[in-house]
Amino acid sequence: MQINSPSVTNDAPSKAVGKVWFVGAGPGDPELITVKGRALVERAGAILFAGSLVSEAAIRWAPPGCVVLDSKDMTLEQMSAWLIEQARLHSVVVRLQTGDPGLYGALIELVQPLDAAGVAVEVVPGVSSAMASAAAAVESLTLPEVTQTVIFTRVEGRTPMPEGESLEELAKHHTTLCIFLSITLMGRVAGALTAAGWSPDAPVVVVHKASWPGEEKIVRGTVATIQALCREAKIVSQSMIIASPTLGARHWKTLAKSKLYDATFTHRFRRGTVADTPQATAPTIAPQETS
Ligand code: SAH
Repeated sequence: MQINSPSVTNDAPSKAVGKVWFVGAGPGDPELITVKGRALVERAGAILFAGSLVSEAAIRWAPPGCVVLDSKDMTLEQMSAWLIEQARLHSVVVRLQTGDPGLYGALIELVQPLDAAGVAVEVVPGVSSAMASAAAAVESLTLPEVTQTVIFTRVEGRTPMPEGESLEELAKHHTTLCIFLSITLMGRVAGALTAAGWSPDAPVVVVHKASWPGEEKIVRGTVATIQALCREAKIVSQSMIIASPTLGARHWKTLAKSKLYDATFTHRFRRGTVADTPQATAPTIAPQETS
């Protein structure tokens, strides 16, 4: 494996021989890349990885001689030019992105120039940091009769939010909110939740570097306290904010049970036992419609 500088040469043959794979590297733990993603890294002739967020360990499976480049100092134009050049030299070129490539990555901005250059592309999904953060905190993002909806969002920073998508508007639904890219704007997050009618006591969890071996931090607080708690813990980057009426359910005394595992509930794979009330009949529903 050799680390290259982002130079682009003009003497490459013009026809692409390879495909560029956009691979979700997962949230940080190198074991959370998919089997398919890892197999592609092992076969790659060239890898472009998102340096500040993709753990270097994710490229430890790169084969000897593979050209490995960190994209953290490159512009989008330099990245697409490099990928096009590498696709002319290697059959497997991998762009490793943090979490899932389809969430807050520059996937489409990179795919368009590759399409224009006639380079084939494919996307391999990854474990998003939203899922890794919920897992780290042993939280369920949906619960029966509490919320059945998850919103992935961010607050407005340099990227403006489209109309109707301000956190205040989204928070009015009182669903689970996974808030990306917003840890430095925690005051704004708390303000939006409050304006949307969330109680100052509503629970919020922040997970810093979810799944990164030895670096993960979990901070639990409320709408009123979370900003100060994060400041105390010196958490200023790479963090997921989860605000949800499901948080802490592990310790609840009463919990509406999922219908899927209800003994009286019939679905495609299991016949329910009829409950003791005479008129009770077990409803039938396909399992994918339940949780
Ligand atoms: N595509 C990525 C998101 C990239 S945007 C995904 O699916 O996870 C970068 C933001 O993702 C960060 O600002 C942070 O909010 C979140 N993030 C990325 N890795 C993280 C991690 N290991 N733990 C917590 N949040 C993370």
